[in-house]
Amino acid sequence: MPPRAPAAPPAETPLASIVRAIVGIPTVSFREQGVMAAVRAFAEARGLAYTEDAFGNGYVTYRKGRAVRGARPLVLGAHTDHPGFVVESARGKRLDLAFRGGVDARYGKGERVRVYGEDGNSRGLARITRILASDAPNRWARRITGAAATLEEGEASAGDLALWDVAECRIRGRIVEARQCDDLIGAVAVLATLDRLVARGIEGYVVGSFTRAEESGLLGAAAAAGGRTLPEDALVVAVECSSMAGGRAKQGDGPIIRVGDYGHIFSPDMTLWMFRLAMEMQQADPKFKFQRKLMDGGTTEATAYDFMGYETGAACVALGNYHNMGEDNRIAAETVNLDDIDGLAELFVRMAQDTKRHGAMRATSAKRWGEIGREAGVRLKAGG
Ligand SMILES: [Zn+2]
Repeated sequence: MPPRAPAAPPAETPLASIVRAIVGIPTVSFREQGVMAAVRAFAEARGLAYTEDAFGNGYVTYRKGRAVRGARPLVLGAHTDHPGFVVESARGKRLDLAFRGGVDARYGKGERVRVYGEDGNSRGLARITRILASDAPNRWARRITGAAATLEEGEASAGDLALWDVAECRIRGRIVEARQCDDLIGAVAVLATLDRLVARGIEGYVVGSFTRAEESGLLGAAAAAGGRTLPEDALVVAVECSSMAGGRAKQGDGPIIRVGDYGHIFSPDMTLWMFRLAMEMQQADPKFKFQRKLMDGGTTEATAYDFMGYETGAACVALGNYHNMGEDNRIAAETVNLDDIDGLAELFVRMAQDTKRHGAMRATSAKRWGEIGREAGVRLKAGG
């Protein structure tokens, strides 16, 4: 028998293909099953294990090589929902819709929504005639709680999704315009990382975590953290699309190491580790860009993980038209930059290879500052 040729390593999937496959899948809080099915298929196509916890959050595990024994797993977590309506009742052409997520109630009236059935296929088109809003402003505005709509085409029934009728996914140059960048682009960044680890045969221990109902109050992440479904010694990174308005970040200036959110900051050791690795990547390749920002335009799942005792950091890409809120109170597709997503995946690949240096960086810096302190003491006593 001829010797078996070694199997060719699988090729890396172009980032734009992963974006196209994932970002248009209709989803809202509690109705993320289409995204979960795509994540499962993506994992299985690459020989990776896909599991779900009791709350329906999905996990894809990558574990390769001897070096990962005793190493802390890197958990990259993205959420799989996006703000949108669910049809509560349909009588003739009249639809009553409930909203899940945070959008300013000055938006929505007169906008069109596309109706999707359980299978994720479009089955109708409706126009919003009235917006229902919360009584009190919640942090930044009165928010949409529901709507009345008139069916203009096709059909709709209770339980269908009704999502803004803007581009599901359009790529122009380096800009992705899509209805649901937040946070399906986060999910894309995690999937692209897993894809590159597999294709490059890199040794490492990474868990992609795909959570539910973030837009309804970080529910999937809170349940996962409370249920201790992540490894206790995990290094957790919440991966998001975050409003450019919070943090003055710029699209195209690279992925963002996110130090905190609206109300909380995350582990300094995680930020230090991510920042130093990004600096090393930039020294090796001056074309690699990154930013380090607070991004306090919203909250992130990192808050839930951190308060529940996990070693937690965060990363994101700068998002335009946050939660579909475009100019002049008109609903619009969200935007992100492809190069920022690519840079984020590369940063994660690097982190996957270097988890052992997390923590050691603090010790190294402490030692160095000890030496500086001793020299400073001598100089100060000597008068200069
Ligand atoms: Zn969001």
